[in-house]
Amino acid sequence: MNEKMRELGARRSAIRELFEYGKRRKAEIGEENVFDFSIGNPSVPAPEQVRQTLLRLLTEKDPVALHGYTSAQGDPTVRGAIADYLNRTYEAGVDADLIYLTAGAAASLTISLSALLNPGDEVILLAPFFPEYRVFVERTGAKVVSVPADPETFQPDFAALEAAFTEKTRVLLVNSPNNPTGAVLTEESVKKMVRLLEINRRKQGSPIWLISDEPYRELVWGDAKAPYLTQYYADTVICYSFSKSLSLPGERIGYVLVSPRAENVSDVYAAICGAGRALGFVCAPSLFQYMIPDCLGLTSDLSVYRANRALLADGLRGCGFRVVSPDGAFYLFVESPEPDAGAFAERAKGLELLVVPSDSFGCGGFVRVSYCVSTDQINRSMPAFRKLAESYGLCNRSN
Ligand code: PLP
Repeated sequence: MNEKMRELGARRSAIRELFEYGKRRKAEIGEENVFDFSIGNPSVPAPEQVRQTLLRLLTEKDPVALHGYTSAQGDPTVRGAIADYLNRTYEAGVDADLIYLTAGAAASLTISLSALLNPGDEVILLAPFFPEYRVFVERTGAKVVSVPADPETFQPDFAALEAAFTEKTRVLLVNSPNNPTGAVLTEESVKKMVRLLEINRRKQGSPIWLISDEPYRELVWGDAKAPYLTQYYADTVICYSFSKSLSLPGERIGYVLVSPRAENVSDVYAAICGAGRALGFVCAPSLFQYMIPDCLGLTSDLSVYRANRALLADGLRGCGFRVVSPDGAFYLFVESPEPDAGAFAERAKGLELLVVPSDSFGCGGFVRVSYCVSTDQINRSMPAFRKLAESYGLCNRSN
């Protein structure tokens, strides 16, 4: 067998490990007594329009066509509808033949990375980052170069980023809004990042790809806006998913979009199709492909996350914790009161609070608290967070 694969299967990610522990613990002491903030599973239902569309498809569309294989890159009408939506919303200038439907962002990423990388290439990741990136990159034989973000703002640290480029750099992979910090790349950050990409691209004389992982694109709070990266840099590939915006993570639906201005765009799209084929994806789930045209631009009820975010951030700050002010996604990044975030998370676990230490995201000193949970869970968890803060002597600290 392949030893690397055995290892990956035998050793679950820290997030999944905690999520599984939570399930066991809930069975032991009761669901209501465990405060599970471990995983990014949307807690609000999909919009009613999703249900109505699925019912209509199931009752009106020819079932053979509905459940049959589609074109490998996805049904052309569906891809056309996505292109129209992106052109209306972001002036993306795309057509159906630059879009490849996938089984969610994870598939979009594995396909894009496989399409663009060769063994020995380097991929720059901005830490903290979604832990699966390392798995997806290393599977291609490429190497991860991790660059810490600015620890106050969680925007890129541009001096560190500049120093990370080498002649082997092929991809800069970004995620905004970010899991785990919630940070949204500002337009100023995007422009600085693009300048570095262009300088290094000229030095190398070949493209350096910007891959933008965007499952949280619509989950943005306050006045922040997530810039649409194809407008800033030609060699951009967008990995999108409906998992979070429409609360459909188990249905596995998303897409890859290649910027129309990318160098050798038709070859890049062919490589995306080739990677999808080599990885055995065949086509994205057909029922959920056909749902897309009627549901573009919709989101689940985001007001629940907005309220949860305020409640949790205020509550934790009130206990004396330092909380990063996030602009997006549904995670709070909370500074560990002791240097070892793993020890902090273990102490939290003793109070039935399940939070993920930041080490698994490639940076120490924080925990990630997912607020895609019921508002009731947040309210009921506050005495435990207060006890946790008290155990570190934090409670009356103002911050
Ligand atoms: N990228 C990031 C940053 C994520 O947080 C997740 C899931 O939590 C994914 C990708 C995978 O999303 P999907 O369910 O669309 O595969």
